[in-house]
Amino acid sequence: MTHPDSRLNRIVVVGASLAGLNAVRELRRRGYPHEIVLIGAERHLPYDRPPLSKQVLTGEWGADRAALLDETEADLLRIRRYLSVTATGLDTDARQVQLSDGRLVKYDGLVVATGCHPVQLPFAANIDGVVTLRTIEDSLDIYARSGAGAKVAVVGAGFIGLEVAASCRSRGADVTVIDIAPVPLGGRFGPPLSDALVTMHKEQGIDLRFGETVGSIEAIDGLVSGLQLVSGLRLPADLVVVGVGVRPAVNWLAGSGLTICDGVVCDEACFAAPDVVAAGDVARWTNRRVGESMRIEHWTNAAEQGRAAAANLLAGRDAARPYEPVPYFWSDQYRRRTQFAGFLRPDADQVTAGGLDRFVTLTGCGERFDAVIGFGWPAAFTRMRRMLVDRVAFPEAVKALRTS
Ligand SMILES: Cc1cc2nc3c(=O)[nH]c(=O)nc-3n(C[C@H](O)[C@H](O)[C@H](O)COP(=O)(O)OP(=O)(O)OC[C@H]3O[C@@H](n4cnc5c(N)ncnc54)[C@H](O)[C@@H]3O)c2cc1C
Repeated sequence: MTHPDSRLNRIVVVGASLAGLNAVRELRRRGYPHEIVLIGAERHLPYDRPPLSKQVLTGEWGADRAALLDETEADLLRIRRYLSVTATGLDTDARQVQLSDGRLVKYDGLVVATGCHPVQLPFAANIDGVVTLRTIEDSLDIYARSGAGAKVAVVGAGFIGLEVAASCRSRGADVTVIDIAPVPLGGRFGPPLSDALVTMHKEQGIDLRFGETVGSIEAIDGLVSGLQLVSGLRLPADLVVVGVGVRPAVNWLAGSGLTICDGVVCDEACFAAPDVVAAGDVARWTNRRVGESMRIEHWTNAAEQGRAAAANLLAGRDAARPYEPVPYFWSDQYRRRTQFAGFLRPDADQVTAGGLDRFVTLTGCGERFDAVIGFGWPAAFTRMRRMLVDRVAFPEAVKALRTS
């Protein structure tokens, strides 16, 4: 147990979501006795985003089930909540955060956990029915517009786009997915996964349009009516869901002195400045396990890094421990789970066991074991992921995979 340090009489957490909440819980778990202020732009207490493209969008769950914290627990954790308010500035000399309502909040320790904002298509402004998905409100809006027979166009065949496509299709919508790349996920994970995803979505009746670019969006009386693709193809649409990526929410840090470069740049222990740490989707840090700077946009990292950053904030820079995880994520489409652990490297070989309906791929080079990709085969994936975390050599892992 870390002894609370009297130099930190108030810790402010900006960003009331997964990373911020895990930071708060860790502070209390380690016995931090002083004030914790949680600042969030949304009106909700922290909630979980993965169900927004899955259970909430299929209608299996009400949005309430995505909650990560209720008022009772927030009181037990003694969190002072400032919700529906945005941090608009940071002064690291004066140690204060400026809020959109004019208030200034002093801190001794600061956790930056403002996550990401989705990227919108440049020509989509003010067209009703062209949406992105990040919040509960976004998810409920998409749900309301995507029932049986609705014509849904999903721009972007990344994980979020494919999950939205699967969820809307499961409710009977006519779904088209458009992507500029020739295969899903930009082909980053190799042919076994691209092929499996294409096969699965085609079987479910999704119209996949790869190698296509959206040229313009058509609207009637301000409401979307279709997409014009650069190839000349016109697609009618009642709803366009744009899933072309996200950007770190860092505008409020302009002029703060923190280094911003595709995220808040941190050292290996998540420190961005003295007594300032960052965690989750917004944080770029040096992962010593691979010796590379990285920023990760996935659930497990937001939770783990929130805890690690909070622990390091309490410990102080000199006693801080490097945060060096093996990144992991999952994606669920039509109840089929895709999983990934590790790091992708361009020089790696791939070895696959299984077929299009379920497989595990290992990547690595020589003795170096880089990553595990799983599709529909959680048991084998979990076994191989454990070997990766335990730094088993690549040839040994391949041998073990072949006996799976
Ligand atoms: C629809 C969807 C499905 C997903 N599914 C999966 C999945 O299946 N598997 C997986 O591994 N990951 C998934 N993810 C990713 C995962 O949810 C994120 O990695 C995680 O939410 C990141 O948490 P975070 O706390 O860092 O940031 P966020 O969850 O983005 O939260 C940041 C919070 O900070 C607030 N904020 C931003 N700027 C300010 C400001 N200036 N002042 C105050 N507050 C501010 C935001 O409003 C937001 O509430 C999914 C994400 C989405 C959107």
